[in-house]
Amino acid sequence: MKMNCCSEKPVIGLPSGEKLCKSHFTDYFENKVFKTIRQFDLIGREENLGVALSGGKDSLTVLHILNHLSKQNPKIRINAIAIDEGIAGYRDKTLAKAIDFCTKNNIELHIFSYKEEFGLPLDEMLKILDVKPCTICGIFRRYLLNKKSRELKLTKLATGHNLDDECQSIIMNQLKNNIEASARLGPKVGIIQNDKFVQRIKPLYLCMEKEVTAYAFINGLLDDFTECPNVVHSFRAQVRDILNDMEQKFPGTKYSTVNSFLQILPLLKQKFKGGMIKVCLKCNEASANDVCNACVYLERLKKSIVKVE
Ligand code: SF4
Ligand SMILES: [Zn+2]
Ligand SMILES: [Zn+2]
Repeated sequence: MKMNCCSEKPVIGLPSGEKLCKSHFTDYFENKVFKTIRQFDLIGREENLGVALSGGKDSLTVLHILNHLSKQNPKIRINAIAIDEGIAGYRDKTLAKAIDFCTKNNIELHIFSYKEEFGLPLDEMLKILDVKPCTICGIFRRYLLNKKSRELKLTKLATGHNLDDECQSIIMNQLKNNIEASARLGPKVGIIQNDKFVQRIKPLYLCMEKEVTAYAFINGLLDDFTECPNVVHSFRAQVRDILNDMEQKFPGTKYSTVNSFLQILPLLKQKFKGGMIKVCLKCNEASANDVCNACVYLERLKKSIVKVE
């Protein structure tokens, strides 16, 4: 069996054992992303697409590829949205990368910060509330991304989630007996369509993290591996390490996990589609409960600040 794609030096090995050079890998990767977009019907003929841009390798890769797509299809417009959570020494660096990329590529970038929108940066919130950083960070980020995407009249919002991220989420939900959260996973996020929600899509759904890293490196998109200081506290980081270990011992583990999940996903969506979407009594955004999670945490922040004063 021929293992190398051609006589050029290989830069990456696939789980199948095949080794690819820079140019064959770039073709392989881009074809995989376009195939994912077609297979899951992620992008229509006419879109005002948003890309959630953190400035890390995944979101820069998605933006880089969708920007090319947009140049070939003028009916697909691209905007980038970045959220500045307020994590000193981390987000400032990745945001600088995001701004630099959008300026060079002439892409409109909208930046929204926790400080302006919620009154405090994440670092300050974490000094006040006794919560896991990623829990509150994720709730506020999803809230802002959805609200701002809708206000900007974006038809869909693409994120940089890759196969490893999805695989971790599937296992995390399983381990925490939170299968309803898995029903919201998949290349098209969510269970039911609703005017309050902007559809989120994951064009890198079938790309492994190491493939995204290689693509970002080859295309000059790689950041300097700045990692959020809060990630060490996360359950996700532990699941990530277990899965990386399994993948090393049994190549193909991550693909198998996600592929088998995709087979049961339609059944999960069917099972949980009855969940009512309400409107938050405080902010008017979509919510599963009378008051949305973002407003619950904002209220807790306000109470704690009053107590401190
Ligand atoms: S690792 Fe956690 S705290 Fe850091 S940006 Fe991600 S979700 Fe937020
Ligand atoms: Zn080659
Ligand atoms: Zn609310």
